[in-house]
Amino acid sequence: MTELTKLSAVEIAGLVAAGETSAVEVTQAHLDRIAAVDGRVNAFLHVDGEGALAAARDVDARRAAGEALGPLAGVPVAVKDVLTTKGVPTTAGSKILEGWRPPYDSTIVQRLRAAGTVMLGKTNMDEFAMGSSTEYSAYGPTRNPWDTDRIPGGSGGGSAAALAAYEAPLAIGSDTGGSIRQPGAVTGTVGAKPTYGGTSRYGLVAFSSSLDTPGPCARTVLDAALLHEAIGGHDPRDSTSIPAPVPDVVAAAKLGATGDLTGVRLGVVTEFAGEGAEPGVLAAFNEAVDALTKLGAEIVEVSCPHFKYALPAYYLIGPSECSSNLARFDGVRFGLRVGDDGNRSLEEVMSLTREAGFGPEVKRRIMIGTYALSSGYYDAYYGQAQKVRTLITRDFTAAFERVDALISPATPFVAFPLGARTSDPYQMYLADLFTVPANLYGGPGISVPCGLSGGLPVGLQVMAPTMADDRMYRVAAALETAVGTLTPPEL
Ligand code: GLN
Repeated sequence: MTELTKLSAVEIAGLVAAGETSAVEVTQAHLDRIAAVDGRVNAFLHVDGEGALAAARDVDARRAAGEALGPLAGVPVAVKDVLTTKGVPTTAGSKILEGWRPPYDSTIVQRLRAAGTVMLGKTNMDEFAMGSSTEYSAYGPTRNPWDTDRIPGGSGGGSAAALAAYEAPLAIGSDTGGSIRQPGAVTGTVGAKPTYGGTSRYGLVAFSSSLDTPGPCARTVLDAALLHEAIGGHDPRDSTSIPAPVPDVVAAAKLGATGDLTGVRLGVVTEFAGEGAEPGVLAAFNEAVDALTKLGAEIVEVSCPHFKYALPAYYLIGPSECSSNLARFDGVRFGLRVGDDGNRSLEEVMSLTREAGFGPEVKRRIMIGTYALSSGYYDAYYGQAQKVRTLITRDFTAAFERVDALISPATPFVAFPLGARTSDPYQMYLADLFTVPANLYGGPGISVPCGLSGGLPVGLQVMAPTMADDRMYRVAAALETAVGTLTPPEL
């Protein structure tokens, strides 16, 4: 393996800035790595080699001309296939979007380009970001580089696996119920869900609009913070974007890296400490709590009594919004069209297209959501779930009066074998047990490696108040100094 692929984004940018390597050389090393290992990992749905090398040449030319470039200039990045990329295929992991080349870049991708990062390609994901294992991708599952018979998490398993396989030093994900944090946890990488509205949804293929949050994935906390800073901030093209500057996540990550958490109060959620997590995950989490104590943090037990209703509320709100959002895939506007032989009605063509284009999990969500929103059941299901959402938000607000941040295991279990949970949707949904509360509330959450269980990575989640994303980076970076980064076995 070329050594360049083992470097962090910070290290790569430093070498490029110093003229010790070029963006082209770095990009080529990563393209070679993808060519060598992605047949076994399937992290990428589309590799844009030509586009990447062109972007890298541009960075090198601007550098040579003496232009001041940003802190991530020349660093390759892999983008989850849920974000539009101008002229580059965007499928959201679905057959219904096969062949679609969007006419515009999402805001996140625009900002990645403006920051001088080099987009390598688009990563695999559960169809429309619905899933926890990437097995619901219409293009075959991604495999976990730690053990290729296991899942890399989902829905953004491709982005997380690309990092763990050293195919990219940075990646973008989207987190509606845990799709950045859970893949991060089970691949031993870092995944951060920003405050809802802190990163733009413009050009993000919508799943559940009140929850969807694009965010950074990396192998180190500082790299994630730099990426967060590059993509975050107000976007007038997203009506729910927060008109405020990005919290200083980079400074916070650097502060955390000093390894001093004196005066920081961390709440362990009582309801999550003993419940639902398998013993090995709990053991690694408890060790991390000890490590955080040694760094000076004060650990407080905090009860969030409504968190136990988060999963059912999420699995009503998410499907409800998805049933409405996915109505736009009608066989007319995008990609696939089935049965348009001149003899069929528009309605028949739409129905045949949706029948052929959507996979079983997406259909299940559309049906659940349509039912939950129907006039006779609206109050009993969707309305009730919205009330629970308010109660969960109150739990967070009360907790943050007592502590600076909340911590929990990021996932109840380590990477499971491929196929182990596909036959029972509920077993798959359980993967989101600890991550969905932050989405319902809208606050930031990060998963950072905290140890191993049975040789597989475990993630610790830090959750912070809305627009206090910097706090979670500080805690995560401090833990990273104690635990170190995790290195997967050679592929
Ligand atoms: N696993 C969750 C789901 O299936 C989360 C998805 C996500 O965050 N996009 O809905």
